Amino acid sequence: MADSTTAGRTVLVVLDTPDRELRSPARELLTIARDLGEVIAVALTEPSAQTVAELGAYGVRQLLVTDLLGDEADSHLTPVAAEALVAAVTTTAADVVLLSSSFVNREIGARLAYAVGAGLILDASAVSVGEHGVVGDKRVFAGTWDITCAVTTPLAVVTVRANAVVASPAPEAVETEVDHLEVRPSDSATSAVLVSRTEHAPADGGSGRPALAEAAYVVAGGRGTLGDFGPVEDLADALGAAVGATRDAVDEGWVTHDAQIGQTGVTIAPRVYIGAGISGAPHHRGGMQASSVIIAVNNDPDSPIFEIADFGVVGDLADVLPQAAQAIRAHKG
Ligand SMILES: Cc1cc2nc3c(=O)[nH]c(=O)nc-3n(C[C@H](O)[C@H](O)[C@H](O)COP(=O)(O)OP(=O)(O)OC[C@H]3O[C@@H](n4cnc5c(N)ncnc54)[C@H](O)[C@@H]3O)c2cc1C
Repeated sequence: MADSTTAGRTVLVVLDTPDRELRSPARELLTIARDLGEVIAVALTEPSAQTVAELGAYGVRQLLVTDLLGDEADSHLTPVAAEALVAAVTTTAADVVLLSSSFVNREIGARLAYAVGAGLILDASAVSVGEHGVVGDKRVFAGTWDITCAVTTPLAVVTVRANAVVASPAPEAVETEVDHLEVRPSDSATSAVLVSRTEHAPADGGSGRPALAEAAYVVAGGRGTLGDFGPVEDLADALGAAVGATRDAVDEGWVTHDAQIGQTGVTIAPRVYIGAGISGAPHHRGGMQASSVIIAVNNDPDSPIFEIADFGVVGDLADVLPQAAQAIRAHKG
């Protein structure tokens, strides 16, 4: 809701998949953006009718679609996307640009910030406006420090982690006007182009579970599963959660590398993380310590994961997880 702290500020929210639907990270960005100023959504590809309708529900009055000119312009490598955003920032005189914290968006955000001389905050878990300007909270050094940083330039570019807030539509839906902005990428931006793109089948065999990096609930298994991820997957499905794992479970070949959480895997910050048969080694903690609620299931009461757990169950995961799944299904029913 606009108030004296939001007055006069223009916030661009960059949509990840405007040609399909608004995914949860985009809905979360729009929720954050409403508290910062007047929101303009930006799409680097033609939006679907569903996206435009959902933007209206989130109170977005303007969607700016960048039309890329030139033979190679639709290659969509990061320099092209960054130049399109430079044009969007210039046209709208934006004060803040918010992107979701994907690998690609971190690079686009960095290129944009460099091109326009803006301050950049990567992987923020909260964004607000303070006396120093736009402020981002983030967890750093493998979860050992929480820091707050302020952008001191007129424009702030911020990438925001998934699950930073619970997405909520605006109190009143509005009509979203779609405007187009022509952008001709420079020769240097198109000096490397995308030649082909092949989409692989999901590593989880098309389970329909949410993506690990952006899931609100994650159930992770470690060496304590002894290779049987059945109870982990069953609890995940009862909760609507993603499945994660430790590196040891990945190295054993029990799950694929995309499920690895940690310093050399995916960094997550779900609302609830459940770790089963996981000791809580620093390399693993670094990727999950920012979770809002940490639940540990381990048969060793001295396991280090209990040091960071909000709730702990000392027991055999093969007994505990099925009971938890059953209780959740009964509750839902
Ligand atoms: C350079 C480097 C990078 C690394 N990067 C990562 C990374 O990104 N992510 C990562 O996870 N690891 C990483 N590691 C490995 C990390 O250091 C640990 O070895 C690993 O996280 C431990 O995995 P684990 O908890 O599954 O196994 P363990 O440490 O062996 O713990 C297994 C736990 O299961 C419990 N258990 C056993 N049986 C049961 C049961 N029936 N029910 C309940 N509990 C049970 C045990 O009490 C124990 O606590 C990295 C290591 C190095 C050197």
